[in-house]
Amino acid sequence: MTELNVLELFSRLSVLKEGHFRLTSGRHSAKYMQCAALFEHPREAERVVAELLPKLPDAVDAVAAPAIGGILMGYETARALGVRSVFAEREEGRMTLRRGFSVQPGEKILLVEDVVTTGGSVREVMELLSEAGAKIVAVASIVDRSGGTAAFGVPFIPLVSVAIETYTPEECPLCRAGQPIVKPGSRN
Ligand code: ZN
Repeated sequence: MTELNVLELFSRLSVLKEGHFRLTSGRHSAKYMQCAALFEHPREAERVVAELLPKLPDAVDAVAAPAIGGILMGYETARALGVRSVFAEREEGRMTLRRGFSVQPGEKILLVEDVVTTGGSVREVMELLSEAGAKIVAVASIVDRSGGTAAFGVPFIPLVSVAIETYTPEECPLCRAGQPIVKPGSRN
């Protein structure tokens, strides 16, 4: 699968929608990305994650991900690599390992996230695992939405880059063109 085919798949599965959307922030956009729609289709998700595997570091002891977005990607990546899969989640606002999950000092960890926008959650999980003595060897994602600005101090390996421009309602060209707006997340 080339990058183009991944994007075609995203379009077919409504991972990446085109239209006129009102985002939670109040801004408008012509594209909307819902990566959960990829993992709704495990076979396709498996194929997409398989594209990433040859780009990953060889020696990985475990895969870690921030909840919720990264959980399924973390599981699929770990399944394909044959290693452990753990995820961190927020407890009173702070990323933490619960459910008996732990990492050992010196363990080589691949951090994954489905979509990296600012990379804030990934960075928090990196800190958490580094404090536990683990070594973060790389960060991988299906989509880089940061426009190439996300940096983690270790190799960052996104499968595809997707730029989504957003507008204030006043400056929105789609509003100006009279295109009806929808709230993303709805089925239509
Ligand atoms: Zn608009």
